[in-house]
Amino acid sequence: MTMPNRLLIGGELTPGEGAALPVIDPATGAEIARIAEASEAQVDAAVRASAAAFESFSRTTPAERAGLLLEIAALIEAHAEELAALESLDVGKPWPSARDDEMPLTIDVFRFFAGAARTMSGSAAGEYVAGHTSMIRRDPVGPVAAIAPWNYPLMMASWKLAAPLAASCTVTLKPSEVTPLSTLRLAELLADALPAGVLNVIHGRGPGIGQRLIDAPEAEAISVTGSPATGMAAMRAAAARIAHTHLELGGKAPVIVLDDADIGAVVETLRAGAFFNAGQDCAQPCRVMASAAVHDRLVADTAAAVASIRTGAPREAGTEMGPLVSAAQRDRVAGFVERARGGAEVVTGGAAEDRGGFFYRPTVIADVDNAAEIVRDEVFGPVVTISRFGDPEEAVGWANGSRYGLASSVWTRDVGRAMAIAARLRYGMTWINTHGKATPEMPWAAMKGSGTGCDMSVYALDAYTSVRHVMVAHG
Ligand code: NAD
Repeated sequence: MTMPNRLLIGGELTPGEGAALPVIDPATGAEIARIAEASEAQVDAAVRASAAAFESFSRTTPAERAGLLLEIAALIEAHAEELAALESLDVGKPWPSARDDEMPLTIDVFRFFAGAARTMSGSAAGEYVAGHTSMIRRDPVGPVAAIAPWNYPLMMASWKLAAPLAASCTVTLKPSEVTPLSTLRLAELLADALPAGVLNVIHGRGPGIGQRLIDAPEAEAISVTGSPATGMAAMRAAAARIAHTHLELGGKAPVIVLDDADIGAVVETLRAGAFFNAGQDCAQPCRVMASAAVHDRLVADTAAAVASIRTGAPREAGTEMGPLVSAAQRDRVAGFVERARGGAEVVTGGAAEDRGGFFYRPTVIADVDNAAEIVRDEVFGPVVTISRFGDPEEAVGWANGSRYGLASSVWTRDVGRAMAIAARLRYGMTWINTHGKATPEMPWAAMKGSGTGCDMSVYALDAYTSVRHVMVAHG
């Protein structure tokens, strides 16, 4: 495993010239690396290189870009073990999950967009003004400033990179300062594979270096996956110069369990899905709403299943859930649970684990008030709440009352009831009798406060393309 420590700017791998930031192993709390962040001048140089490269990259053919995207996929595949090891170390996620769940999807995203690059075309031409032919072009918006979060660093980087590169945009990417290792290593692997400046990777803290990147006048689009606060910062930066924004932000996924649902399947999905990546997942099935007819059984069965989740270090055999990413994130989760105690029952978990590192017990909280903070806000940790509804209408109202609008699911054996509810949910994604499954062909879509547009699928190309009209006079 190579411990990366360089940035990629204008085709050159170069050390950061800013402050050295520690990288912490969440399983032990120990410092594993120190990597210098970019200086402001390096951020500016990266975006300038991106703008310079755009001139020729925007004229590449779809087939040429498809070739590059397939090459990126092949490089990641060839180094998948190493990249997964860095990811597991940096985020604290179980090693098999980093290798077997995240790397295949990361690779497949680049493969999908290699194909998608070749589907880009405008609609048919025609004569809308007598004696003139009009045509529609879809052209790249320009250089992109891309910001990624810490929960799935490399997979989120793949979402931030593959679609704009397919659309022939150049990209300057900043991974989270909390988990930079896999993305900086990817930058090393790609340094010679891509024309200089097409991809730049910088490292640094959000409010300083990240802000400098999204403020860069050359960036015509700002693409963020992160918290709503960062999404708002991106919109403010974009407003100052009328740039495009593409935002995938927080979530608070409702799980609506009707009286005829397969409770065993719900429990299995909660056990696996709500505690995957220690619950640090924007689509986490965390806000369960159960019909009164099944509520008590669901609470009892979920609590028993969740209590059996095996926490441990990422490399320990049998680990099902690792630590949270940082002390700050663990303390934030603990704060949510402590404040919830007065008005709800902590059925299982509800405490940090005293074993070094940033571990927190998988937690289920029942009898919650739907207006409570723990139900309303994104906890982003291993915590599930369960509330009881009398009429499904009530559950739809609760779900749609949220500021968030990313993931949701409906559980019932009656497909008609499921479809009626799915049609009314104001969420970018609704799963029926499953939750959270992602595939590159389908959009990872956001509504309301969860963002604008989508990642993955051909629809993701919309964020990185502008529709243009070209008219030719016949005589
Ligand atoms: P965060 O917003 O704290 O950080 C995300 C990135 O933004 C980091 O790289 C950070 O350095 C940068 N940043 C912070 N302030 C900035 C600023 N002013 N200007 C520019 N960049 C800035 O989020 P996080 O804690 O890393 O990630 C967790 C959040 O991401 C959660 O809310 C989660 O739901 C969301 N998320 C959403 C999706 C999705 O697809 N919708 C996927 C993963 C994570």
